[in-house]
Amino acid sequence: MERISWNQYFMAQSHLLSYRSTCTRLTVGATIVRDKRIIAGGYNGSIAGGVHCIDEGCYVIDNHCIRTIHAEMNAILQCAKFGVPTENAEIYVTHFPCLQCCKAIIQAGIKTVYYAEDYKNHPHAIELFEQSGVVVEQVPFDKEIFQTFAVNQ
Ligand SMILES: [Zn+2]
Ligand SMILES: [Zn+2]
Repeated sequence: MERISWNQYFMAQSHLLSYRSTCTRLTVGATIVRDKRIIAGGYNGSIAGGVHCIDEGCYVIDNHCIRTIHAEMNAILQCAKFGVPTENAEIYVTHFPCLQCCKAIIQAGIKTVYYAEDYKNHPHAIELFEQSGVVVEQVPFDKEIFQTFAVNQ
C-alpha cells in the first residue's frame, strides 16, 4: 500500500484548511508541525464572530484586504491561545508568507517554512528568513493527491 509522504500530507492539510478561508481574494492555509505532529492549523479569515468577506465583500485598503487575519498568524495565535510552544517547529503554507507573517514566523521560533506556491515573495521576507537561519523550501502540491489516495486505499 502506497503511503502519502510527510511533506505532501502536511501540505494536503494546509490545502484542506484553505478551503475554510472566508476571504475571496486568496485562500491560504497553514499547518504548524513539531516532530511530525500537527500542533496547529489556520486559514485566512475574519476575527471570531466578525463579518466574512464572502458575505460582505473584502475590506480593501491599498490593495490589501484588511479584514482578515492571515493563515500563518491564525496558526501561531492558536498556539499562543492554548500555550503550545512553537520553538523549532515547522510550518507548511499554501503560499509564500507575506512580510508580516514572515516576521511572526521568525519571532515564534519556527525554523523551517514549506510553501506550495509562490506569492509575491517579498525580497525583504526572503532576506529576513536567510538572516535568521530559517530554511525555506518550496513543496509543490498536487491536488490530485486527494483523488489518488481516495481511489487507491
Ligand atoms: Zn477579504
Ligand atoms: Zn501574511
